[in-house]
Amino acid sequence: MVVAEIKPFTEISNMLKPYKRILVLGCGTCMAVCLSGGKRQVELLASAIRMAKKINENSDDILIGERTIGRQCEPKFVDQIKDESSQYEVILSMGCGAGVQELTERLNSIVVLPAMNTKFIGVADSEGNFFEMCAACGDCILSLTGGICPVTRCPKGLLNGPCGGTKNGKCEVSSDIPCAWVLIYERMKQLGKLDEIKKTIGPKDWGKDQKPDKYILKEKSETVTVK
Ligand code: SF4
Ligand code: SF4
Repeated sequence: MVVAEIKPFTEISNMLKPYKRILVLGCGTCMAVCLSGGKRQVELLASAIRMAKKINENSDDILIGERTIGRQCEPKFVDQIKDESSQYEVILSMGCGAGVQELTERLNSIVVLPAMNTKFIGVADSEGNFFEMCAACGDCILSLTGGICPVTRCPKGLLNGPCGGTKNGKCEVSSDIPCAWVLIYERMKQLGKLDEIKKTIGPKDWGKDQKPDKYILKEKSETVTVK
């Protein structure tokens, strides 16, 4: 999932200063799962904005709406709020950066502002902590590294490791981080594939990570339909 965290409230408040009619818009997929921009967080942020506006602006014509759509990054969900959004001056998006941009493009007569800082593609542990796992490099080498990504999980992104700094299984950059290459070694050992770790992984084709990237379906029948 895409993982994001809410911006500091002061930053959000400053962005919203010129506006009185604000729609706080959540995203029911990644942002809901990482507990940062789903329905509950929309309620909390909207009521905090309402309170701050009341105290600071003492105005009666303030309208703070709340809504959460399935995904802000998909046109059919964005279209659900086309009519409703026309009564607001601004949408405060609690989606990731892709969501903010999709809203901007499809609802182009309205200002869209980001409430979130988008951080990474990651996973959650059982305690609800989130960890980066994939940098979307466009040329996946997990088949060569026991399913552990050195591009993302080694701070140096070493394709052949470890470097000389690994100590007691930890990374030299921070003792909080397990050395990705020790993890890869242990995993390859468990799989009985230690011989493979001796092979040098060649340079990655970073051309596949060109920005802005795109993915065009060759056959429309390949389209995944989500109901
Ligand atoms: S090798 Fe690239 S695509 Fe594969 S997990 Fe790592 S960053 Fe993601
Ligand atoms: S200690 Fe391991 S994870 Fe850290 S930079 Fe070196 S190889 Fe990468």
